[in-house]
Amino acid sequence: MQLLEAVTKKEYILVVDDTPPNLQLLLTMLTRKGYEARGVNDGSSALLTLEKDLPELVLLDINMPNMNGFQVCQHLKSNELTRDIPVIFISARDEVLDKVQAFSVGGVDYITKPFQIAEVLARIENQLTLRRLQRQLQEQNELLTQEIRNRIIAETLLQEANEKLGRLVNLDGLTQLANRRCFDEYLAQEWQRLSREQMPLSLIMCDIDFFKNYNDTYGHIAGDDCLRKVSMIIKQSVRRPADLAARYGGEEFVLVLPNTDIEGAMSIADLIRDKLCELALPHEDSAVSDCVTLSMGLTSLIPKTDSQPAVLLTAADYALYRAKELGRNQTYRIG
Ligand code: GH3
Ligand code: MG
Ligand code: MG
Repeated sequence: MQLLEAVTKKEYILVVDDTPPNLQLLLTMLTRKGYEARGVNDGSSALLTLEKDLPELVLLDINMPNMNGFQVCQHLKSNELTRDIPVIFISARDEVLDKVQAFSVGGVDYITKPFQIAEVLARIENQLTLRRLQRQLQEQNELLTQEIRNRIIAETLLQEANEKLGRLVNLDGLTQLANRRCFDEYLAQEWQRLSREQMPLSLIMCDIDFFKNYNDTYGHIAGDDCLRKVSMIIKQSVRRPADLAARYGGEEFVLVLPNTDIEGAMSIADLIRDKLCELALPHEDSAVSDCVTLSMGLTSLIPKTDSQPAVLLTAADYALYRAKELGRNQTYRIG
């Protein structure tokens, strides 16, 4: 099969021998076997021919005038272009030392003259098969490397898409605060953790005062913009990594403050109020101020293992209701 391939592909073999009858015999025999055989009779012609067209294999005599076979082989092996071409020495020299040198300069095989035609052909085909296998391996290696590269790219893209999805799933599109889903999950998680640790958990519910009037006065787009600005203030007022600011719904926000007692939560509520006052977003149709204001309901407790986070939510909601009832633009605390 491989020999057939060699025949159909016409593999090019360069024969270097300074004895014309030897050269002729080898060329005839190789051509007859279906190879494309070319011959030269000295070392420097061999190197010149090699540079022009790369053969699949070189059959190289050792004893030649000017440049001997070992020197030709050394040249060939020191050039990156020709380094991989297998060289079979073919020589009348039968000393062990010659054979050792032949291999040490990079030869892959050694045939002694007088040679048997069948042996020469078998040794050539042996080397060509090795070379084909090497090439196949190299190609498979390159394909594998490319495949690995493609996979790394695909994994990076997938990771980016996942991160984006994670953000979309957990973030509120308008305000870029955590969304309700994220808040619910986080509250449940922190409730569990703090009930084990028996540490306080605080919640602040915020609601913009007279926001329906704001929309009616300034329009819905300005309303959205106002929601973004209030969100920014809320986000900037919490600094601990465990604190979470979320959009609870419409114009309502909620803050989860783990390991924070009621006084700590109160100071955050005050900070939000101060910052909002400083920003002074005009609200001419508010009954409590000239600017946008917030009512806040605040609760704090140490979670019990046998109770649910809804206890905290209901209390915060009630506190917010009380803040509204007592005149808005204020914080009402329970706990
Ligand atoms: P209160 O002081 O009692 O809270 O009065 P309010 O007008 O703020 O409360 P109400 O619940 O009557 O109205 C809330 C308004 O918030 C109504 C709704 O149009 C507006 N709103 C809710 N979500 C959005 C939003 O995403 N964008 C805008 N622009 N407005 C919103
Ligand atoms: Mg509301
Ligand atoms: Mg409101």
